[in-house]
Amino acid sequence: MLLLDGKIASAAVKAALQAETQLLVQSGKRAPHLAAILVGTNGASETYVASKIRNCEETGIRSTLVRLESDVQESVLLAAIDQLNNDPGVDGILVQLPLPKQISEQKVIEAINPTKDVDGFHPSSAGKLVQGLSTFIPATPYGIMLMLEYFNIETKGKHAVVIGRSNIVGRPMSILLSSNQQRGNCTVTICHSQTPNLKEICLQADILVAALGRPEFVKADMVKEGAVVIDVGITRVDDATAKKGFRIKGDVAFAEVAPKTSAITPVPGGVGLMTIAGLLKNTLQAYKQNA
Ligand code: NAP
Repeated sequence: MLLLDGKIASAAVKAALQAETQLLVQSGKRAPHLAAILVGTNGASETYVASKIRNCEETGIRSTLVRLESDVQESVLLAAIDQLNNDPGVDGILVQLPLPKQISEQKVIEAINPTKDVDGFHPSSAGKLVQGLSTFIPATPYGIMLMLEYFNIETKGKHAVVIGRSNIVGRPMSILLSSNQQRGNCTVTICHSQTPNLKEICLQADILVAALGRPEFVKADMVKEGAVVIDVGITRVDDATAKKGFRIKGDVAFAEVAPKTSAITPVPGGVGLMTIAGLLKNTLQAYKQNA
């Protein structure tokens, strides 16, 4: 069994990015610039944003964090996005999700200028992805593709099963795996909460992507011998014995599933790290297109 270690794969992606940004700055150009907006003080969101900013620093990408109170009005957030849209020194904008109830996530996603949409959530980016056009690929599916590339996982002709149909993970993942490109050309089945016979479908998967947000949902009896298993899930599960009072669980019961697989991602230390690598690559792409 090959451990698809996100630390190793993301380090390789980040080293290449760092070398590129260094060359840019040495040649007298400004560094790429990512602006992140964080609304409120949700613990997980704080952790994700801090990690994104730390990774920007490590790769020579400038970052700005805009913090807004959890009771902020939607119009104030939209105005902050508008300001960043119109700032020629900002290449990429991300608004950390989820947002408080008074704010429409869809409105916020659509407010971001598609040329700065480094999360790839704007309908314009999603539409381009469906049509196989160059665009910003949502960071998590992008990171998974980078991981498959790094570990040279063959996808052509394989049956991929994706559990989850969200706009940020499951659906774009299914599009990428089914597309006519390197690390694509799979026959893809996409499953969701209304899928009957989920276990039988999973058992047919050469590549199984679990992105449903149910801790340890995928058990050994749902996985074919020799399958490649990609665990996207990140759930905080209360645990009084843990230092922080919780543990991070994936969607796959790793201990029992791993021995059956040919390759598997750990949680933590797998897809999460690749997601950040995907975001950083999108930021550099935005810089190249906009500068
Ligand atoms: P989401 O928007 O809640 O979507 C979950 C999907 O899973 C939905 O399509 C849902 O079906 C499906 N689902 C839920 N329960 C199911 C079940 N019992 N059987 C089959 N399908 C089921 O979640 P998301 O944003 O895609 O995120 C999924 C997980 O990935 C979460 O744990 C999230 O924290 C994690 N995540 C990780 C990263 C990372 O960097 N590693 C990034 C993003 C998300 P319906 O459509 O029918 O409701």
